[in-house]
Amino acid sequence: MGVIVAKFGGTSLSCVEQFCKVRDIVLNDANRRYVIPSAPGKRHRDDAKITDLLYLCHERAKQALAFDDIFEAITQRYMDIVRGLNLDLDLEPVLKNIKSRIREGASADYTASRGEYLNGIILAKLLGYDFIDAADIIFFDSQGMFDSERTNEEIGRRLQHHERAVIPGFYGSMPDGRIKTFPRGGSDITGAIVARGVNADVYENWTDVSGFMMADPRIVSNPKPIRKITYRELRELAYMGAGVLHEDSIFPVKKAGIPVHIKNTNVPTDPGTIIVNEAEPVCCTGGITGVAGKKGFTVIAIEKTFMNNELGFGRRLLSILESNGISFEHMPSGIDTISLVIADSQLDGKLEKVLAEIKEQLKPDSVEVYSNMALIATVGRGMARTPGIAAKLFTALGNKGINVRMIDQGSSEINIIVGIENDDMEEAVRAIYYAFVDDCK
Ligand code: ASP
Repeated sequence: MGVIVAKFGGTSLSCVEQFCKVRDIVLNDANRRYVIPSAPGKRHRDDAKITDLLYLCHERAKQALAFDDIFEAITQRYMDIVRGLNLDLDLEPVLKNIKSRIREGASADYTASRGEYLNGIILAKLLGYDFIDAADIIFFDSQGMFDSERTNEEIGRRLQHHERAVIPGFYGSMPDGRIKTFPRGGSDITGAIVARGVNADVYENWTDVSGFMMADPRIVSNPKPIRKITYRELRELAYMGAGVLHEDSIFPVKKAGIPVHIKNTNVPTDPGTIIVNEAEPVCCTGGITGVAGKKGFTVIAIEKTFMNNELGFGRRLLSILESNGISFEHMPSGIDTISLVIADSQLDGKLEKVLAEIKEQLKPDSVEVYSNMALIATVGRGMARTPGIAAKLFTALGNKGINVRMIDQGSSEINIIVGIENDDMEEAVRAIYYAFVDDCK
């Protein structure tokens, strides 16, 4: 028998109907032995997430204000779920106890973690699985840093004795027993930790979308799904803002080489996206895996004759950025030119000072500034081995009359980044997407 660790996000467990979908999914494959729930999320756009309501209770209690109305809303959400699922489970004493602890000054982390804790109890009952409190197997050190080795050992030891279990996401405990949470969205991390601890065959991450799309659906209508992506490609696309799952949150499984399968609770038959360490070159999408764009960059382009011979030029340039507390995104260079691509948020009010320092310390022939730039990353492990990718990309942009201000192909050869005007971003993403995807129809 294999081992699947399945994490379900907040929208997958927001109400009775969603719990039923989760039950069917889990019980449909006997390998789904360890299940990690989030707290109930939004049922509709204007709804509140339980975690947010819990943080609000804590805020109110801290200011010695009443929070009964908010806690009542939380209680009702859980009671409705238990009642709707016909479970023989009395959560009232547990809820009462949580309320008193919040009133008595429980920490924000403890308070927020109860969303997952309560959902875990309900889900374990519904599935007939054991309930294991995350505080007993997920550990932080006394500084609040995640203790991966101790946790990994304890998970391996404890779960040996539990054929099937539900473990709430998002939190663990410190050496003195205090509850500590991961950053927001941290149930993804718990799932990845458990998957590593039991050496799972696959870590399933169930959410409300069918994995990654090749482009942002707000820009390209009905983009093709990405069936398989490597961690490196995910990193490149996630950096450009293509969401779903943050690469940082799955570091434990990445380290262990366990594939992550992103699936849609609402359409479980959709294939979803599998994230793997390495994968064969893509062919069905014309050599690319995805295309993503991000607005809000400035380029500082510096030219100086014989720059290539001037020892320390690059170091001095970067020191200017460092001393001004600015990090840069890219640094494409030519023989006598070097450009810095910097996010506007980094430059905030510092541009004039930086330019003055560059002129004074580096004595360049010219310094030009291009603002309102967007970056478009075209990513794909197939690119390195497929001739004609760059030609196709630039032809697509040229045909649309989009002016390319900067080109950067990282040495990784899985990414070509172009800098264009902010206003051209959507058009450019579409042009590149259709150039590659139409091609393979
Ligand atoms: N419930 C927590 C949050 O809203 C953690 C999670 O959902 O992953 O951030």
